[in-house]
Amino acid sequence: MDLRLSADEARFRDEVRTWLNAALPDDLRRKMHLGVRPSKADIVRWQRILNEKGWAAPSWPVEHGGTGWDATQLYIFKEEMQRAFAPDPLGMNINLVGPVIIAFGSEQQKKELLPKIRNLDIWFCQGFSEPGAGSDLASLKTTAVRDGDHYIVNGSKLWTSNAHRADWMFALVRTDTTAKKQKGITYLLIDMKSPGITMNPVITMDGDRWCNQEFFDNVRVPVANRIGEENKGWNYAKYLLGHERVNFGKVGATKARIALAKALATRVISNGKPLSEDQRFQEKLALIDVELKALEITNMQVVAAMKKNTDHKQDPKASILKIKGGELYQAATEILVEVAGPQAMARQTEFLKGETGTAVGADWAATTSHNYFMMRERTIAGGSTEVQHNIIAKAILGL
Ligand SMILES: Cc1cc2nc3c(=O)[nH]c(=O)nc-3n(C[C@H](O)[C@H](O)[C@H](O)COP(=O)(O)OP(=O)(O)OC[C@H]3O[C@@H](n4cnc5c(N)ncnc54)[C@H](O)[C@@H]3O)c2cc1C
Repeated sequence: MDLRLSADEARFRDEVRTWLNAALPDDLRRKMHLGVRPSKADIVRWQRILNEKGWAAPSWPVEHGGTGWDATQLYIFKEEMQRAFAPDPLGMNINLVGPVIIAFGSEQQKKELLPKIRNLDIWFCQGFSEPGAGSDLASLKTTAVRDGDHYIVNGSKLWTSNAHRADWMFALVRTDTTAKKQKGITYLLIDMKSPGITMNPVITMDGDRWCNQEFFDNVRVPVANRIGEENKGWNYAKYLLGHERVNFGKVGATKARIALAKALATRVISNGKPLSEDQRFQEKLALIDVELKALEITNMQVVAAMKKNTDHKQDPKASILKIKGGELYQAATEILVEVAGPQAMARQTEFLKGETGTAVGADWAATTSHNYFMMRERTIAGGSTEVQHNIIAKAILGL
């Protein structure tokens, strides 16, 4: 099923695969394979191993610790990581705030922050969405008023993934309330330990704390923490969102889960025979395989286009990746629930947290419903499917 690779590319893939097999700690591999979410310590540990190897921020320019790989190599690396069930380097750091600092930050910000972002010495969260500003992000109301060499920030951010684990937030704030809404937005880096920030958990339908709501009450943020120019934050955000959507393809991760579902289905008996022999089940898998192949080709086209353009504009096809990648990942989590059958409901929180406790039923089965519920967010977060349809209609179909 692999796309045909040149001899050099195949060698590169083998090199990556061999290294990943040796470098990924066994406990982490097992956890990821079972569908248990990695802890903060797991993610930090793995990112530092990658950084040591020089692979934590593969798409960054070489002078900032990137690899210099071309688009195909980057794609192969990502796919091999997902295939090996290795946790991705923290996306907020590596795919979102890092590239924005590289493209628009000051020399001082690059020097000071990029090495820490790469090594996960600082963990960033994304403070864009607010109550009343999600799809219509430019309506955001959190204000930042200049007071000497500081901004005073007031307002609230909502849905912030992993804010409770984060040291810093990259945030969009309103610095001009009179201009057209996209023109009055500034991009700030906010230290989460700043006085005046409070946070409440937002429990998602999987029963876990992933998201948060933060409140800013006269929070002082140094002007030196602004990225680029005041009121130009919308341009930087658009650049970032293109990066975010490209990474929603997750072809390797979906492939790995489908392969897992196929393997597990040979062990599950349904109507007196292995589920893997059930024709309806096979048809479902075949359909996903075909759609995954189409997604893979689109993904490579988008990555190649991104590497060629120099004006920071994103390929609108990233919206196709966002929609299709999300749907197929969801389909893979659904298939795993189907394979687990009633055992999918045997959720045991302690087990899922990787702590003590024993799962009821097969160890892999207890996480399937947990992940199924959480992954409903794939077609919402980072821009909902309906919003991506609007982008495709305008930018690709010219409607
Ligand atoms: C699990 C999770 C994690 C998240 N993490 C983060 C994070 O870390 N940082 C962050 O900033 N945000 C985060 N978000 C927020 C996410 O980006 C928003 O939820 C998303 O953009 C949708 O915004 P909303 O929730 O306000 O819904 P709304 O914008 O109110 O949309 C409600 C419904 O209306 C539809 N709709 C809205 N506008 C249109 C339109 N113009 N045309 C057609 N249909 C439309 C939407 O598709 C949706 O179905 C996260 C969300 C989730 C669920």
